[in-house]
Amino acid sequence: MDLKLDVEELVSLRHRLHANAEVSNQEEKTSKIIIEFLEKFKPDQIWQNVGGFGVIALFKGEKEGENIGFRADLDALHIAETIELEYGSKTPHTAHKCGHDGHMAMVAGIAPYLRQKKMKKGNVYLVFQPAEETGEGAARINKGLRELDIQLDYLFGLHNIVGYPKGQILTKKGTFAAASRGMVIKLFGKTSHAAEPEYGISPVMAMAEITTKMTIVHMIKPFSDLTLATVIHSELGEIAFGTSPGYGEVRITLRAMKDKDMQELIEYAEGLVKEQAEKEQLDYEISYTETFPATENTEEAFQIMKNAGESVKVDFKELEKPFKWSEDFGQYKLQMKTGFFGIGAGENSPHLHDETYDFPDDIIESGVNMYAGLINYFKLI
Ligand SMILES: [Zn+2]
Ligand SMILES: [Zn+2]
Repeated sequence: MDLKLDVEELVSLRHRLHANAEVSNQEEKTSKIIIEFLEKFKPDQIWQNVGGFGVIALFKGEKEGENIGFRADLDALHIAETIELEYGSKTPHTAHKCGHDGHMAMVAGIAPYLRQKKMKKGNVYLVFQPAEETGEGAARINKGLRELDIQLDYLFGLHNIVGYPKGQILTKKGTFAAASRGMVIKLFGKTSHAAEPEYGISPVMAMAEITTKMTIVHMIKPFSDLTLATVIHSELGEIAFGTSPGYGEVRITLRAMKDKDMQELIEYAEGLVKEQAEKEQLDYEISYTETFPATENTEEAFQIMKNAGESVKVDFKELEKPFKWSEDFGQYKLQMKTGFFGIGAGENSPHLHDETYDFPDDIIESGVNMYAGLINYFKLI
């Protein structure tokens, strides 16, 4: 069936969400706006405060059938609104600069679509996830779904992507977006007088060796696909010319297109830290933060998205290369089948997380069309 979409309604929802931007784990007002919008379309059930400020809405079909989910993310960024917008963010130093306001409007747009006709079968779950930017939200929603005893057969998600024609649907088989994680290395030695470094234990040599080897790790180790370590921060001692340092910290972002390569990269990095610490007689601690598994599409998921895209005649493009950034959507594959795609946000747009970025309203329709295509694929309506 054709989608008769009230795009204006979704655009005004997007603007309201934009004006009320909230960062990760503070999306309280955002979740209220979403619930208020969804209630107009009388979902069979709404759960709120799932895994933080997450919201899940259920639309039930008349008969049994597949459980299909669609995921949007709620959070904005600590970036000030510097462009003139009628609906500019009212929250100080906070704005939707990753387009999650648009993602929410598109998933919310499924509700009116489902209510145009009776749903024949199955269950559709609209999943509004908190804290995507910090990589925490998806894992918490997984836990929330387990607690609610909801087992999804498939969960679909998208991200708007700059550099591609507006509204184009972009996807690929295999890795869509990279795995990444932040590695924190702490090295504990002993201070001494700067004139007598031989009486202390400085982490300087270990830090130099670790940062150098990790920076060129892709040349040292044979990985199966693009794998990268980026030293993003390091700190050694105090600004005191009389003291040889006794403590150092290194932070490295690990990145890989394949989860298997990520595992090998972690093993290499941990081995290197251990070896260097032992050599220099340092104590050490390693911890991780912002862990994103790779976002991947199986052959089956890719075919479903391709068929769906063709059935609603969106401009569908199969990508050749995965993206090097990460998405916490990768977490969901641990608990259900997943499909992820991109939607073009325009070729000459400012980049995501740029203070001048604003989600283009004219791609909302294409995104909802693609979601409708997926609902049609499973013959739920
Ligand atoms: Zn982002
Ligand atoms: Zn994003």
